[in-house]
Order: sequence, then C-alpha cells, then structure tokens
Amino acid sequence: MMQHRVLVADDLSAEGVRILRAAGLAVDVKVGLKPEELEAVIGDYDAVAVRSATKITAKVLEKATRLKVVGRAGVGVDNVDLPAATRRGVVVMNTPGGSSVTVAELTVAMIMALSRHIAQATSSVKAGKWEKKRFQGRELAGKTLGVVGIGNIGSVVVDRCQAMKMRVLAYDPFISAEAAANMGVELVSLEELWRAADVVSLHVPLTDLTRNLVNARTLAQMKKGALLVNCARGGIVDEKALAEALASGHLGGAALDVFEKEPPAADHPLFKVDNFIATPHIGASTEEAQAAVAVAIAEQLALYLSQGVVKNAVNVPSLPKEAREQLGPYLPLAEKLGSLVGQIAPRGPQEVRVEFAGELGRDPQKALTLLVLKGALRHFLDFPVNEVNAPSIAKERGINVREERTGESHDYVSLLTVTLRGEGGEAVAAGTVFGKGDARIVRVNQYRLEAVPEGEIILFENDDSPGVVGNIGTVLGAAGVNIARISLSRDAERRSAFSLVNVDSEPTPLLLEKLRQLPHVRAVTPIRL
Ligand code: NAD
Repeated sequence: MMQHRVLVADDLSAEGVRILRAAGLAVDVKVGLKPEELEAVIGDYDAVAVRSATKITAKVLEKATRLKVVGRAGVGVDNVDLPAATRRGVVVMNTPGGSSVTVAELTVAMIMALSRHIAQATSSVKAGKWEKKRFQGRELAGKTLGVVGIGNIGSVVVDRCQAMKMRVLAYDPFISAEAAANMGVELVSLEELWRAADVVSLHVPLTDLTRNLVNARTLAQMKKGALLVNCARGGIVDEKALAEALASGHLGGAALDVFEKEPPAADHPLFKVDNFIATPHIGASTEEAQAAVAVAIAEQLALYLSQGVVKNAVNVPSLPKEAREQLGPYLPLAEKLGSLVGQIAPRGPQEVRVEFAGELGRDPQKALTLLVLKGALRHFLDFPVNEVNAPSIAKERGINVREERTGESHDYVSLLTVTLRGEGGEAVAAGTVFGKGDARIVRVNQYRLEAVPEGEIILFENDDSPGVVGNIGTVLGAAGVNIARISLSRDAERRSAFSLVNVDSEPTPLLLEKLRQLPHVRAVTPIRL
C-alpha cells in the first residue's frame, strides 16, 4: 500500500510529529508557507495538520487532489473553508477539550489578579511608587462566583474556585440539575446570577444567544463592585458598555483575554480605565495544552488514515442523492424544527423525540433525526455541529434521542413533530410540507397554526383578550420593524393566545422589553430560523 503523506503546516509540538511518524506516515514539516507555496505542494499530501495560522482556503483545496483530511490542533476552525472541504469530501477534524485546564487556569489567574490589583500594582512599583493603600484588595474565600456555561472549561473553573472556598452559582440551560449538583454547583437563572455574584466568569460559546450577553442592561443588574472575566470569546461582552460600567465605578474590575476585534484598536475605550486588565488571547497558550492538542490531532489523523475511523469531525460529506431526492424539503424543515425547539427549550434538556407521521412514517428517517439534532444543539455550542457529531454530543450530555413512527398525520400528507423535553418541561414544534416544497410550522407547543419557518421571528403568548395583537403591531411599527406575516392560535382551556410573527429585521433588546410590558402579554421570545 502506498505510504500516506502528511504535511505539518503550522508549529506542532514535537510529540505530535513523533506520533505521526511512529504510525508509519511520511511527515514533512513545512511551517510558514505562503499561500501560493502551500497551493504548489498541497497536491502531494493525504493529510495536513494545522493550528490557526495556515489558511486552508477553497483555492488551496482545489489543488489538494490527494487530500483526505485536515487536522486542526485546537478548537476553532475559522482558518479552514468548511463548505469547500465538505464539497471535496475532505474531512476536517479538531481537538475539543484539549486545552480546558489551561484556559481555566488563566481564568483563575485573572480573578486573583483583579481581586489583588496585581497588574496595576506591578506598574506602580516599577514606576518607583509604593502605594499600599491604593492597592488594598479583596479576599475570595466566602465570595460568590457566578459561572455562565459549565462545559469543559467552566467546570474546571468551578472546581478550582471551590478549592478557594468560593460559593459557586451557575447558569447553563443545557446542563441537568443533577450534573450541576454533582459539581457542587447551584443552577440559577441569569438574572439571579447577575444579582448574586461577586465575580462573574463567562465560559459559553459565541452564539446568537450569547452575543452581547453582557451589555449595559445586564451590567446594571450586577452587584456594585463585581468583577467580570471573559476568557471565552470576543463578542459575548459589549466592550463599550463594559468600559462605561468600569469608569462609573459600578463594576469593580474586568479582565478580558478575548476581544470583539483582535487585536483591539489602540484607542479602545477599555484601555483608558484603570480597573481593567487584559491578555492577548493566550487562554490556550501553554506548553502543556499545545502538546495535548498536538498529540490528539496526530492520533486522530493516524487513526483516520490507517483505519478510516473519524473522530471529532466538524464536517461531513453530503447525503446520498437518493435520500436527498426522497426527503427533499423535509431536510431543511427538520433542521428548522430542531432549531426552533432549541431556542425555546426548557432548561436541562433530557430527551429529543422525533415523530414521523403519514408518508414520512413508512421508512426509517435517520437523516431527518440527525438534522433535528443538529438544529437543536447548535444553539449551545460554538464549534460546528453536524450530522456526524450531533449524536455523540447528545450522548455526552446525557440527552436521550428517540425516534417514533406513527401512522397518524391528521390532515397532512406527512408530519414531523419534534419534542425537546427538559427538566423545566417540554418544547414542541411540528411541521409539514405543502405541495412540492412549501414548508410550514403547524404547531408550537399546544398551539396549532400555520407559519413560514424562515428568518427573524417573535413568538408571543398572551391572555386571550381583545386588542393585544393591535398593540403588538403598534409597538413594532413605531420601532420601524415591519411585520411580514403573522399566524395566530389560541388555547381555550387556558384562555391564552399565541402568535408567531415573522418580522423583517432583528428586534433589539429594548424593543423586546417594550413588547413584554404590553398589557396581557405573558411571554415574548425572539427566535431566528
Ligand atoms: P463547552 O462546549 O464544553 O462548554 C460550553 C458550555 O456553555 C456548555 O455547557 C453549554 O451548555 C453552555 N452554553 C451554551 N450556550 C449557552 C447559553 N446561551 N447560556 C449559558 N450556557 C450556555 O466549551 P468549552 O470548551 O468549555 O469552551 C468555553 C468557551 O471558551 C468557548 O467560547 C470557547 O471558544 C472558549 N475558549 C477560549 C480559549 C481562549 O484562548 N481564551 C480557548 C479555548 C476555548
């Protein structure tokens, strides 16, 4: 058999290269190739290992006639053109979890540096000053830490801070109360967390739900003097609002390892405030973490090239043609129904149930289930969820996946019903396709309706009394938000009504607040499909 050739294009720890060679692969280490140099040599290789520097663009992939796999030592795959790789049948892998301890340790260092002013005191001492009074600090023991997101990294931060005798509260809608209890953590709502925490640390991915999670409004809810640390992703914190909260003295201090734009501009407003410290996105940057991700990617590449076993793939080859033709418009509908329940999901998901009725119920429809999972899980993760990794992500998180075929499809040729059951209850969405390709949502929770699953949507639940829809229209109109479609439903038993409103632009937090304050409105939930 021809020996497989691997190009190591970024600085990979030596142990990674050793593992690749020990697996019988021919390895060339060529770090720092210019794009055109990479294009010139890539055709010789079956695999390429990168960190974040080398860009695997569509142009590079075009020349990569032998390439089977791209291995990214680390998590983010922004430097790889995923759709282009998928089209060419090239598997892209990453190494989630390899740097958790390292990032958690930087977080703890940030918390301690903030509470004892270490960075500012160092500058002062070096400037020949001796400002003992100015740098009086705060003890962490007995204080409350609020962790947003208790996944790989957040859970290590929890463990280390518990050792410092901090009380830990967490918000993570995707973790069961049982898993949290095992960590010795109390799950609370975000509002409670902002209110109670002396130190807030963010460990969530950057998603539609977490973008600007920390903003002027949420900062105002935090305790006076609270400390904030973000070693997760730029964009989760509104940096301008943070600078204002620090300058006004409302917040005691903040530390960022990540920025919305990296590197940040030299005149960034945060650089003007004294109680702010920062590092240049070095969360995962220790010798140990780099070695761990190098070893992980080398083992994954060797396993794939020798046995075809795929581990931690972030893309997948597309579905076979026959399945695509047979399922047609149900494929995007499945992902959208998953996405819908993912966005209105109760806390602590435990089960995703997918029911196929009518014509869809005749054959196994695994592809649809995978797309439902992909849609539902994507709101909780920052690495690409796909049809391959979705089942293992669900399994890791203790989410049971059930498929049921029922004959009954009521008035529809086929009906796809998705239920996400969590500790706090259930979220249900059902959909069908009219004619050749008109997808419709026909049920949200107990409400029957007929709505187009597309774009920006606001869900309203209100008392079933006159005038509510008119008020909603007026407030949206005044805010310049155009209503594209509106679909109404009611639950006579509970005297409640529901509307799904398709709008032309994303509602701002302020507008949502106004809508929530309208008389008789019980709940307002923005979603995007
Ligand atoms: P993870 O997927 O293991 O954990 C993330 C957790 O956040 C999950 O438990 C998930 O349920 C939860 N979550 C998702 N959406 C949420 C929401 N809207 N509200 C509350 N919780 C939510 O990821 P991880 O490996 O622990 O990484 C956490 C963050 O750290 C990511 O943003 C990652 O990109 C970042 N990171 C930063 C560096 C760095 O250099 N600073 C290095 C590695 C990872």
